[in-house]
Amino acid sequence: MDGDVVDALATPGRVAAMLRAQGIRTPSGQPDARQLRRLREIRAAAQALTRGAVREYQELARALLGRYSFTLGTSGRLEHEGCGWDGFIVEILLRLVEISESSRLKTCKNPRCRWAFLDDSPSGRRVWCDMSTCGNRDKVARFRSRQRAGSRRRTRAVRA
Ligand SMILES: [Zn+2]
Repeated sequence: MDGDVVDALATPGRVAAMLRAQGIRTPSGQPDARQLRRLREIRAAAQALTRGAVREYQELARALLGRYSFTLGTSGRLEHEGCGWDGFIVEILLRLVEISESSRLKTCKNPRCRWAFLDDSPSGRRVWCDMSTCGNRDKVARFRSRQRAGSRRRTRAVRA
Protein backbone atom coordinates (compact mmCIF):
# COMPACT_ATOMS: atom_id res chain seq x y z
CA MET A 1 0.00 0.00 0.00
CA ASP A 2 2.71 2.45 0.90
CA GLY A 3 6.48 2.32 0.83
CA ASP A 4 8.35 -0.16 -1.29
CA VAL A 5 6.47 -2.89 -3.02
CA VAL A 6 8.49 -6.05 -2.46
CA ASP A 7 8.10 -8.79 -5.01
CA ALA A 8 7.39 -11.80 -2.82
CA LEU A 9 8.07 -14.11 -5.74
CA ALA A 10 11.47 -12.66 -6.58
CA THR A 11 13.51 -15.60 -5.29
CA PRO A 12 12.72 -19.18 -4.16
CA GLY A 13 13.81 -18.32 -0.63
CA ARG A 14 11.59 -15.28 -0.46
CA VAL A 15 8.47 -17.06 -1.67
CA ALA A 16 8.91 -19.86 0.86
CA ALA A 17 9.45 -17.34 3.67
CA MET A 18 6.47 -15.22 2.59
CA LEU A 19 4.10 -18.20 2.50
CA ARG A 20 5.24 -19.45 5.90
CA ALA A 21 4.97 -15.94 7.37
CA GLN A 22 1.30 -15.99 6.34
CA GLY A 23 0.78 -19.23 8.19
CA ILE A 24 0.47 -21.31 5.02
CA ARG A 25 1.75 -24.85 5.32
CA THR A 26 4.30 -25.35 2.60
CA PRO A 27 6.44 -28.32 1.62
CA SER A 28 9.89 -28.26 3.17
CA GLY A 29 12.74 -26.44 1.46
CA GLN A 30 12.24 -24.04 -1.42
CA PRO A 31 10.70 -24.26 -4.88
CA ASP A 32 13.21 -24.71 -7.70
CA ALA A 33 13.51 -22.26 -10.62
CA ARG A 34 10.86 -24.06 -12.70
CA GLN A 35 8.41 -24.16 -9.80
CA LEU A 36 9.01 -20.49 -9.07
CA ARG A 37 8.14 -19.75 -12.73
CA ARG A 38 4.86 -21.65 -12.29
CA LEU A 39 4.04 -19.65 -9.16
CA ARG A 40 4.61 -16.45 -11.10
CA GLU A 41 2.37 -17.70 -13.90
CA ILE A 42 -0.36 -18.53 -11.39
CA ARG A 43 -0.01 -15.06 -9.93
CA ALA A 44 -0.31 -13.52 -13.41
CA ALA A 45 -3.45 -15.59 -14.02
CA ALA A 46 -4.95 -14.48 -10.68
CA GLN A 47 -4.15 -10.85 -11.47
CA ALA A 48 -5.78 -11.14 -14.89
CA LEU A 49 -8.86 -12.59 -13.20
CA THR A 50 -9.14 -9.77 -10.65
CA ARG A 51 -8.71 -7.22 -13.46
CA GLY A 52 -11.59 -8.84 -15.26
CA ALA A 53 -9.34 -9.82 -18.18
CA VAL A 54 -11.18 -13.10 -18.60
CA ARG A 55 -9.64 -14.18 -21.88
CA GLU A 56 -6.12 -13.52 -20.66
CA TYR A 57 -6.89 -15.47 -17.50
CA GLN A 58 -8.28 -18.41 -19.48
CA GLU A 59 -5.22 -18.57 -21.71
CA LEU A 60 -2.84 -18.48 -18.75
CA ALA A 61 -4.87 -21.01 -16.77
CA ARG A 62 -5.16 -23.38 -19.73
CA ALA A 63 -1.41 -23.26 -20.32
CA LEU A 64 -0.78 -23.94 -16.64
CA LEU A 65 -3.27 -26.81 -16.43
CA GLY A 66 -1.66 -28.34 -19.50
CA ARG A 67 1.60 -28.68 -17.59
CA TYR A 68 0.17 -31.10 -15.05
CA SER A 69 -1.75 -34.31 -15.31
CA PHE A 70 -4.97 -34.93 -13.45
CA THR A 71 -7.38 -37.68 -12.78
CA LEU A 72 -11.03 -37.27 -11.96
CA GLY A 73 -11.52 -38.31 -8.34
CA THR A 74 -14.51 -40.24 -7.02
CA SER A 75 -15.80 -36.99 -5.51
CA GLY A 76 -15.93 -35.45 -8.97
CA ARG A 77 -13.00 -33.19 -8.16
CA LEU A 78 -9.78 -33.06 -10.12
CA GLU A 79 -6.95 -34.85 -8.39
CA HIS A 80 -3.26 -34.86 -9.09
CA GLU A 81 -0.34 -36.98 -8.13
CA GLY A 82 2.23 -34.25 -7.65
CA CYS A 83 4.02 -34.12 -4.33
CA GLY A 84 6.33 -31.61 -2.67
CA TRP A 85 6.30 -28.17 -4.24
CA ASP A 86 4.72 -29.50 -7.44
CA GLY A 87 1.78 -30.80 -5.44
CA PHE A 88 1.55 -27.53 -3.55
CA ILE A 89 1.53 -25.51 -6.78
CA VAL A 90 -1.10 -27.73 -8.40
CA GLU A 91 -3.31 -27.25 -5.32
CA ILE A 92 -3.06 -23.46 -5.69
CA LEU A 93 -3.85 -23.77 -9.37
CA LEU A 94 -6.93 -25.90 -8.74
CA ARG A 95 -8.08 -23.45 -6.06
CA LEU A 96 -7.73 -20.61 -8.53
CA VAL A 97 -9.76 -22.49 -11.13
CA GLU A 98 -12.49 -23.16 -8.54
CA ILE A 99 -12.53 -19.51 -7.53
CA SER A 100 -12.70 -18.36 -11.15
CA GLU A 101 -15.73 -20.59 -11.68
CA SER A 102 -17.47 -19.10 -8.68
CA SER A 103 -16.28 -15.60 -9.73
CA ARG A 104 -15.78 -14.69 -6.10
CA LEU A 105 -12.26 -13.38 -6.57
CA LYS A 106 -12.51 -9.61 -6.39
CA THR A 107 -10.39 -6.49 -6.09
CA CYS A 108 -10.94 -4.17 -3.13
CA LYS A 109 -12.94 -1.08 -4.08
CA ASN A 110 -10.57 1.19 -2.14
CA PRO A 111 -8.38 2.71 -4.90
CA ARG A 112 -5.48 2.99 -2.45
CA CYS A 113 -5.68 -0.67 -1.55
CA ARG A 114 -6.71 -2.82 -4.55
CA TRP A 115 -6.04 -6.06 -2.69
CA ALA A 116 -7.40 -9.21 -4.23
CA PHE A 117 -9.75 -11.01 -1.88
CA LEU A 118 -12.08 -13.95 -1.87
CA ASP A 119 -15.69 -12.93 -1.36
CA ASP A 120 -17.02 -15.60 0.98
CA SER A 121 -20.07 -13.62 2.08
CA PRO A 122 -23.43 -15.40 1.60
CA SER A 123 -24.70 -12.63 -0.70
CA GLY A 124 -21.49 -12.46 -2.76
CA ARG A 125 -21.67 -8.66 -2.72
CA ARG A 126 -18.58 -7.79 -0.69
CA VAL A 127 -16.56 -4.94 -2.18
CA TRP A 128 -13.90 -4.38 0.50
CA CYS A 129 -10.97 -6.62 1.30
CA ASP A 130 -11.65 -5.90 4.95
CA MET A 131 -14.66 -4.18 6.50
CA SER A 132 -12.76 -2.88 9.54
CA THR A 133 -10.15 -1.04 7.45
CA CYS A 134 -11.16 -0.22 3.86
CA GLY A 135 -14.92 -0.62 4.40
CA ASN A 136 -14.88 1.55 7.49
CA ARG A 137 -12.77 4.26 5.86
CA ASP A 138 -15.40 4.51 3.12
CA LYS A 139 -18.25 4.67 5.61
CA VAL A 140 -16.54 7.54 7.47
CA ALA A 141 -15.90 9.41 4.18
CA ARG A 142 -19.53 9.04 3.13
CA PHE A 143 -20.76 10.15 6.55
CA ARG A 144 -18.59 13.28 6.35
CA SER A 145 -19.80 14.17 2.85
CA ARG A 146 -23.41 13.67 3.99
CA GLN A 147 -22.76 16.01 6.90
CA ARG A 148 -21.31 18.62 4.55
CA ALA A 149 -24.30 18.30 2.23
CA GLY A 150 -26.62 18.60 5.24
CA SER A 151 -25.01 21.79 6.49
CA ARG A 152 -25.21 23.30 3.00
CA ARG A 153 -28.91 22.52 2.86
CA ARG A 154 -29.42 24.07 6.29
CA THR A 155 -27.57 27.23 5.22
CA ARG A 156 -29.81 27.59 2.17
CA ALA A 157 -32.91 27.03 4.31
CA VAL A 158 -31.90 29.84 6.65
CA ARG A 159 -31.32 32.25 3.77
CA ALA A 160 -34.66 31.48 2.10
ZN1 LIG B 1 -8.88 -2.89 0.80
